[in-house]
Amino acid sequence: MESALYHLPLRYEDRRHILKIGQLREQGVQVFSGIIIAAGESQTTRQRKRLYEVVISDDTGKISLKWFHYRKPFMQQRFTVGRQLIAIGEPRRFGAHREAHHPETEFLQAGQNLTDALIADPLVFGCYLPVYALTEGLHQKTVRRIWRDLVKDFAPLISSPIPEAIRRRHDLLPLGQAVEQAHWPSNDTSFEALESGTDRARRTLVFDEFFFLELGLALRRQGVTLEKGFSFKVEHRYTAPLARMLPFQLTTAQRRVLGEIKLDMMAPHPMNRLLQGDVGSGKTVVALMSALIAIENGTQVAVVAPTEILAEQHFLQFQPWLEKLGLSVVHLSGSTPQKNRKEILQRIAAGTVHMVVGPHAVLQESVRFKQLGLGIIDEQHRFGVRQRAALRNKGRHPDLLVMTATPIPRSLALTAYGDLALSVVDALPPGRTPVQTQMLGECDRQRAYQKIHEELAEGRQGYIIYPLVEETEKSDLLAASEGYDYLRRQIFPQFTLGLLHGRLKADEKAQLMREFKAGHIHLLVSTTVIEVGIDVPNASVMMIEHAERFGLAQLHQLRGRVGRGVASSHCLLMRSERCSDEGRNRLEVMVAHTDGFRIAEADLAIRGPGEILGTRQSGIPDFRVANLLRDGHVLEEARQEAFQLVENPEFAQGKAYADLRRELVRRWGGRLELASLG
Ligand code: ADP
Ligand code: MG
Repeated sequence: MESALYHLPLRYEDRRHILKIGQLREQGVQVFSGIIIAAGESQTTRQRKRLYEVVISDDTGKISLKWFHYRKPFMQQRFTVGRQLIAIGEPRRFGAHREAHHPETEFLQAGQNLTDALIADPLVFGCYLPVYALTEGLHQKTVRRIWRDLVKDFAPLISSPIPEAIRRRHDLLPLGQAVEQAHWPSNDTSFEALESGTDRARRTLVFDEFFFLELGLALRRQGVTLEKGFSFKVEHRYTAPLARMLPFQLTTAQRRVLGEIKLDMMAPHPMNRLLQGDVGSGKTVVALMSALIAIENGTQVAVVAPTEILAEQHFLQFQPWLEKLGLSVVHLSGSTPQKNRKEILQRIAAGTVHMVVGPHAVLQESVRFKQLGLGIIDEQHRFGVRQRAALRNKGRHPDLLVMTATPIPRSLALTAYGDLALSVVDALPPGRTPVQTQMLGECDRQRAYQKIHEELAEGRQGYIIYPLVEETEKSDLLAASEGYDYLRRQIFPQFTLGLLHGRLKADEKAQLMREFKAGHIHLLVSTTVIEVGIDVPNASVMMIEHAERFGLAQLHQLRGRVGRGVASSHCLLMRSERCSDEGRNRLEVMVAHTDGFRIAEADLAIRGPGEILGTRQSGIPDFRVANLLRDGHVLEEARQEAFQLVENPEFAQGKAYADLRRELVRRWGGRLELASLG
């Protein structure tokens, strides 16, 4: 029954008033009235289609009502000149001429005036009427009647135990009333508010939905922060020398975020923080600094990346710095030979290794740390909550830093990773010029090759990316390798090309990346394996084949591989002949924006939250009422209240909150693991 009550209207028709004909606007269904001054059959001028036309007028103007399907005798009998008619329809204007097609029509009963008529039938007019998504075979009128009865009988029975004080602070309705008004808005509600979904009833429902979600997240978070963890001391033993060695100064954004991380690490509870930053914003050095703090305090650090390539890359980034500081870092991967592996595992367990970098392999049972102080997870959206827990279990309440370059809109981050604290590196290092992006068709291909030529001739490097052609890795490889052969022989014979794809062994990939990084390979032809994290600042041009097959987030990630140095960079999006309108829209977003957050919002609008994060892993619920794009600010309000409430000692035990706790458990089902709730 409850879920039926939450089957809310898609929109509303404003039928509160009977409008003068002169007041009619082109804005959906309206109610108006007039005397019939003409009626009869005619033909449309162009297609010579039959139609029945009835013209009505009042003291402000006239409008013609048209039907294209009708039974003539019925029409002739019903619409006679001189009768007063009430029409409900969508007015359209063509210059001074107004018309409405297939309106509903009603007549005044004898002796009835317009005001009487308005209140006579609330399923027709005198109020806002809900418009529902229709199940096949049902009429809007029928659905309205069913839902009116349902809402009348059952909405008064539901309530929400959100504390009165919170309800008052946010001007919320009691839940039952909110449900009722979401179906049948009261006449004093503004139409604009209904249209934008910001009316009090809907806001109440959205708040209610977010509040219980955030309350659960707040408890989860509290569960972690109540644990005893390391209280690290910041001694600058390694961090200060590193800062001196870096070829650049940290940006203000990097320093601010590092400050937030330091406070967390110094606190006696485990850190649980999400570090978010656009591609190229410089998260790696922030992670490195954090790692050094843990190492200064005599603990070890684990860095986990989603792919072998990325793990290798991190290792290559971290290793020189750590070695200069006299620290030891190892790379552990699925392809580490058994012999080395055993020795590495022993050193990790003995504590002589300061940092371990690797893909999922690091999370395996057999990897035991002497004392893990900090776990770093890169590209969090590729991992689930379970992997986070696995890493945490490798130590006694270690600190946790998860990094992502997927620029999730804040509202989505708060839901998906709501139990993590959030730090955002919100500015790029200085001296970057935004990547210039173009959408190109087949006919521009030569021009694209020409551009790549120019860049390579100046000593820069580039990428050509092929998408997954079909579901099989084989054909994926085929497209890339055929492209590679052709490009190498026909187009770029004077340069060295490399081919990178998913079927290469880990060490072959790593070797290739090393050569590319060192500049021995000029142009890297690749499937999407390079998507995340690869950092080669000298690369200044990227061409993406069949660009429309990629999601926005993925394109943004890919494009982030160029524009990392001071040279101005180019991204060439090749659109195929068969590209759909939706695909073209997506590419246009890429051309227009370089800011990852803007792109992420566009992505959220196009694909919805579940898709963006991979629903099953992310644990984002499907919302019944709320919409993350529209309701971001309500989410923030609900979050603030929820997080404040769990701080109140009464909340866990007090009688006053018993109903609230019960409701929380009910809504979260088994997902909460709320040990602290009595
Ligand atoms: P991401 O956030 O995508 O992981 P990286 O950490 O790989 O970004 O940094 C991208 C590039 O920017 C690297 O080449 C890095 O050396 C450089 N970089 C990082 N911080 C700064 C800074 N403060 N000033 C200049 N360059 C920086
Ligand atoms: Mg990175």
